[in-house]
Amino acid sequence: MTPDNEVRFRGCLDDVAAYKPGRPPARTDGRPTYKLSSNENPYPPLPGVLAAATEAAGQMNRYPDMGAVDLLEALSARFGVPTSDLAVATGSVALLYHLLQASCTDGDEVVYAWRSFEAYPIAVQLTGATSVQVPLTDDARHDFKAMEAALTERTKAVLVCTPNNPTGPVVRRDELLAFLDVVPSNVLVVIDEAYREFVREPEIVDGIDVYRDRPNVVVLRTFSKAYGLAGFRVGYAVAHPPVVAAIRKCALPFGVSHVAQAAAIASLAVEEELLERVEALVTERTRMVGELRAAGWDVPETHANFVWMPLGDDTVAFAEAVQAEGVSVRPFPGDGARVSIGEREANDLFLSVARAWRQ
Ligand code: PMP
Repeated sequence: MTPDNEVRFRGCLDDVAAYKPGRPPARTDGRPTYKLSSNENPYPPLPGVLAAATEAAGQMNRYPDMGAVDLLEALSARFGVPTSDLAVATGSVALLYHLLQASCTDGDEVVYAWRSFEAYPIAVQLTGATSVQVPLTDDARHDFKAMEAALTERTKAVLVCTPNNPTGPVVRRDELLAFLDVVPSNVLVVIDEAYREFVREPEIVDGIDVYRDRPNVVVLRTFSKAYGLAGFRVGYAVAHPPVVAAIRKCALPFGVSHVAQAAAIASLAVEEELLERVEALVTERTRMVGELRAAGWDVPETHANFVWMPLGDDTVAFAEAVQAEGVSVRPFPGDGARVSIGEREANDLFLSVARAWRQ
């Protein structure tokens, strides 16, 4: 019980476990360390992107353009959607928070697969709503039959993460479209495509095609992963104007800085070069998965910039063993570890520990 002379917070905060960021391991022996724990892009921003951000930094005495007009226009031209169907925010995680804040309150339910992105339960709890977590199938995929069965009168939103963080599989076209057909039109469906650009599976449907004739669908994407701008914090949502309007009402004023807007616009201008880097990461991903499987690891298919290592009770010990070699990964105790695809030497170091672990 909180004593009367202490500040009281909303009851829903009691169960909120704060988001834990990954950190690079600290070494004192002078050998390099690598962070493979946050699904970041190992490549630094391209010179043109840095130049645009640096120039924008000269305006930092002013508030940024709250409407992010130039960025919305650049996104509109890139994806062939009207600016009225676009919103940007401080990373796609902010868009998720805004959407749930706008749509959910005490007593409501939000359905999503589990395990999935660790921010989902936090974002739901902050609204006072209840998470309804539907276990993934044995091969780490969404179980849409079970998700359909989990829908109730109280369901306000459904979150679909594809590719799924942290396990990697992607939702196929047929299963997504069939699921959308059974979700009531007054339930918001968030398709979280943070890793969209890393997908090489032909049997998927693009969220931006899906939303066009579905007013309850919102697609979330980000500049943090494929575009390598995680530190700038820019994500975007694509949805029909009422959904966009709801996001805008909840958004923090001036949340996306001048430098972030400029960097995102500049990235779209050099997208081809950035996507070559994505291709190199996809090649590394194929190598990682191949080598892990050859070493006896049962890793699920992955279409993102990470690999899931099902470790069960060995998860923490494994993460510590990798950490001791200077590589941080993301452990989910009792379940598994997620390893980002990083620079080749980081991947090699990780693979050497993973191989030794199986021997
Ligand atoms: N969605 C998923 C599935 C993610 O994994 C992440 C980042 N880890 C995000 C959204 C948020 O990305 P950001 O806020 O950097 O755009």
